[in-house]
Amino acid sequence: MPFINRLKQIETKLHSKSPIVLSNCRVFFDFDNTMTTSDVLDDVIQRFSINDKWIALEKAWHEEKIGTKECLEGQLRGIRITKNALHNFLKKVELDPHFHRLLTLLVREGIKPVILSDNFTYIIEWILAYHGIKDLKVYGNTLRFYSERIIPSFPYDNPFCPSCAHCKKIHLTKDKTENKIIVYVGDGRSDICPARVSDVVFAKDKLLHFMMKEELPCIAYKDLGDVHHYFQDLLTHSSNKH
Ligand SMILES: [Mg+2]
Repeated sequence: MPFINRLKQIETKLHSKSPIVLSNCRVFFDFDNTMTTSDVLDDVIQRFSINDKWIALEKAWHEEKIGTKECLEGQLRGIRITKNALHNFLKKVELDPHFHRLLTLLVREGIKPVILSDNFTYIIEWILAYHGIKDLKVYGNTLRFYSERIIPSFPYDNPFCPSCAHCKKIHLTKDKTENKIIVYVGDGRSDICPARVSDVVFAKDKLLHFMMKEELPCIAYKDLGDVHHYFQDLLTHSSNKH
């Protein structure tokens, strides 16, 4: 479906709110496999684990026998890594090739996108800084280095919902009171809850599969070039209305 028709559908759905204009949106991004072309944390675990225990944990997580926090805690116990080795590894991470121009468009319109991730804030901020991106608000899990170990902690854990280590929904519902249009861009399991409470959802991979299965409205995207295209359409649509 063309973006503009999808936009009209969303405006109808949001009939109690103002028409969608970009400046009235709050935009949230997942990080791994959304802003990057790979799952960074999975790759770190695979590369720096000293044994294969992480594989059984990953399998149990996929089968939903354990939650993300339990899975991550177990997997990080098996990692041995120095700060330098981590930094060298993170240098190879690729951002989505369209991310810079998407960010430029959003900032030009006065929007400060927020990153919500089940990865670690330290890792995300390091990658962004390496690519010259500053001042993006990042909410994620936290870590500290101890000897060659990574010790995680989970400041946004929801004890009533073990599914994710970081309950991303918390950050979105705060904004619901401001009469803003909540836009969410994601791909994975930890994006399902925030997607359910967002007004406009861009989905790919696991998230798209879930949204389609549950017959929830979303816009399928392949990469951030599609999201950029949508926002560009939104700008044109808004200026034609005036
Ligand atoms: Mg992801």
